[in-house]
Amino acid sequence: MSFTAKVISAKEWGARPPKQWQAETRPLYIIIHHTATPNPPNDLSKGTLEGAKSFARSIQKAHMDGFGWADSGHNFLNTTAGVLLEGRNGSLDAIKRGRCVRSAHSGNTKGNESPGIENEGTFTTYQMSAKQWDSLVELCASICSSCKIDPDNIKGHRDFSPTQCPGNWLYSQLSRLRQDVRKRLDLPVEEYLKEGDSGSKVKELQQVLKSRGFNPGPIDGIFGSGTTQAVISFQKFNGIKPDGIVGPVTWNALNSVPPMKTEPPSTVNLLETYKFYRGLPHQDQAIAWLQTQISKDDLEEFAQKWRNTPSLPFLPLQEGAVGTEVKQLQQRLQQQGFNPGPADGIFGAGTKAAVIGFQKSKAMVADGIVGDKTWTTLNLS
Ligand SMILES: [Zn+2]
Repeated sequence: MSFTAKVISAKEWGARPPKQWQAETRPLYIIIHHTATPNPPNDLSKGTLEGAKSFARSIQKAHMDGFGWADSGHNFLNTTAGVLLEGRNGSLDAIKRGRCVRSAHSGNTKGNESPGIENEGTFTTYQMSAKQWDSLVELCASICSSCKIDPDNIKGHRDFSPTQCPGNWLYSQLSRLRQDVRKRLDLPVEEYLKEGDSGSKVKELQQVLKSRGFNPGPIDGIFGSGTTQAVISFQKFNGIKPDGIVGPVTWNALNSVPPMKTEPPSTVNLLETYKFYRGLPHQDQAIAWLQTQISKDDLEEFAQKWRNTPSLPFLPLQEGAVGTEVKQLQQRLQQQGFNPGPADGIFGAGTKAAVIGFQKSKAMVADGIVGDKTWTTLNLS
């Protein structure tokens, strides 16, 4: 867009010439101030055009005669009625050419190379009227356009110097100002969400917050205090200014953090699977298949840990041995279908024959002597 703001030139409001003309600069920012003078109905401009011109002259006088400056310190003035006036001589012409006149409003060399806008009033808690706001938006959009300044570079005086200017309320509205200027310039507008908002975008915000582990309360599309707290927690956690307002920076952070896993890991629970198969006729095939999937080392470790191994007797047992271990051997041979004769605890020829029979059935060395291997195989069979 072209420079559309209607600005009363210094010549038109009867400015004195500067004591000294200042060099032109290439502006990077727009710097917002308040005049810290009374708000309506006691405003110095009295809300009129004549009052606005008179106010501009009184400021110039204070700056030149009181502070000893070369000219008005600021570049533009926006009165309570939304009347826009040039401040320092030459500012309007320079801005229309994409330049600025070095000024004295920011208390900082860098800031003084960019246009400063004085807004009449004291905006610590007092809120600017729509008329004055609209003029401010129009002027900022015009300056951004002619000087190719990104609306994100609209700053407050306090961003350059230690000062309360432009008042807590006005300073808190700078994000809205940038947004309104973007709209005026037909630039893409970032979505701002804050407490009191509602709708699908709020619901989306709540879902994203929840997926990041910050609980906004019910996912109801209503931005209440619970959602504000969740946003503040998220902002603190991510080193973002914790204002509870979701602007481009917070959205960006919300969307760039990978979502936390909310679904359980997709591993098979072997115990549940086993319990399921246990009651089915395929359980032997299932376990046999599972066995082929497990390494020999793992299987042996499993067996060591979980098999119900009877304590090993003094081995080997062979013909002539007597005792409870022999009796245990005979009982086990009987259970396996080999007949050692009576389980009397005496390792005789019958027992030896039964051991040989068992060993043969397992393709083991059939010597009739029960060593570790025969004992273990017999008790696991
Ligand atoms: Zn200021």
